[in-house]
Amino acid sequence: MNFYSLNKQAPKVSFKDAVIKGIAPDRGLYFPESITPLPDSFFDKIEELTNQEIAFNAIHQFVGDEIPNETLRAILANVLDFEFPVVQIEKNIAALELFHGPTMAFKDVGARFMANCLGYFSKGETNEVTVLVATSGDTGGAVANGFLGVAGVNVIILYPSGKVSDIQERQLTTLGQNITALEVAGTFDDCQKMVKTAFLDEQLLSKMQLTSANSINVARWLPQLFYFLFAYKQVKSQGKEIVFSVPSGNFGNICAGMVAQKLGMPVKHFIASTNINDTVPEFMKTGEYNPKPSTPTISNAMDVGDPSNFIRIRHLFQDDFEALSENLSSYTFSDSETREAMKGIYSASNYIADPHGAIGYLGLKKYQEKHPNTYGIFLETAHPVKFLDVVEEVIPQKLSIPPQIQKVMGKDKKSIPIETYQELKDFLLSS
Ligand SMILES: *Cc1c(COP(=O)(O)O)cnc(C)c1O
Repeated sequence: MNFYSLNKQAPKVSFKDAVIKGIAPDRGLYFPESITPLPDSFFDKIEELTNQEIAFNAIHQFVGDEIPNETLRAILANVLDFEFPVVQIEKNIAALELFHGPTMAFKDVGARFMANCLGYFSKGETNEVTVLVATSGDTGGAVANGFLGVAGVNVIILYPSGKVSDIQERQLTTLGQNITALEVAGTFDDCQKMVKTAFLDEQLLSKMQLTSANSINVARWLPQLFYFLFAYKQVKSQGKEIVFSVPSGNFGNICAGMVAQKLGMPVKHFIASTNINDTVPEFMKTGEYNPKPSTPTISNAMDVGDPSNFIRIRHLFQDDFEALSENLSSYTFSDSETREAMKGIYSASNYIADPHGAIGYLGLKKYQEKHPNTYGIFLETAHPVKFLDVVEEVIPQKLSIPPQIQKVMGKDKKSIPIETYQELKDFLLSS
């Protein structure tokens, strides 16, 4: 399949080139040329299919013949080797747990899928690909884990010194091999600025093939649509209209859910739940898009003031505000509301939500005030243990540390401190 740039000033490219380039030369995001609905029989019989079969049917049209079918199946088997359970916690409310992967963040699936595709495309190529990524926490671990040992691919992760949790830092600094962590004296925004500058640096680009592993990359963005299909398979028998509430930061996950809907999945409505970084909730209120600098919150993976994938959502609806509003609501919640929700969920259902999932829950509750007869699913995007400080402060219970996390706790951190863009550039040119 071909992908075009949403800025419309760059040539169409194949799936392979979209994955390798990450972003179009005109700085636009790549978008699939067509989205063909799956046959009704797929949804009628979805409960008879394995997750891998569901995923293959859903992603095949976007990959086309650029990866042979049996290789694509093998990649999916590798990527999807854990569970995605829907856990009912109240009448008509369930959590879709996306945190059972190797780094316990939902980004594991996208990062692994992209790593496998890039690994396949790099076979037989003499030029190495360098993946450059900035992280505020969870992306770094998932990317490091997904790309570890992939031949022909070097991964450089920039993270803000002292601003990620201990667990997150270990996940991205202890693996070694083809993964290098650069510890930036600055904020996440500083890291992201450096990465953006590198992608515009002609001198660098002439010397190396740089790509990004953020959700702007189609191979990280699109496989997230699997989650919604896996959830549908599990709750279809409830016979109710389904709504999804997605805790959103860069809006890649929810946008992938909307692609699943375009593939024909029956879903009544989407709710984009955010923390106080409310650019999209404001847009849905006023029709005006005003990006702003991000504000730190306890749901820090969603501290985004200018969500990069929202443009893809607008495009899915041909920028028709009415049509979009019929399908999407967006609500914003403060840190104190988030803490209250975590407490409330725990005392009512004995369920421990992480701060991101709690915001998803709040968005769902708000929507269901007016639509009580729907079956609501909120996405639990990270295991609560990854936000231990916040969770243990709010919930009167000690969390046990899962084996995936224990594995990294004893390992030694290895990072290279940098302060300026020039240091990043020197590092890239010398490596
Ligand atoms: C990345 C992340 C999000 C936000 O996902 P987007 O696709 O960027 O909207 C939400 N929760 C957690 C835990 C995350 O790591």
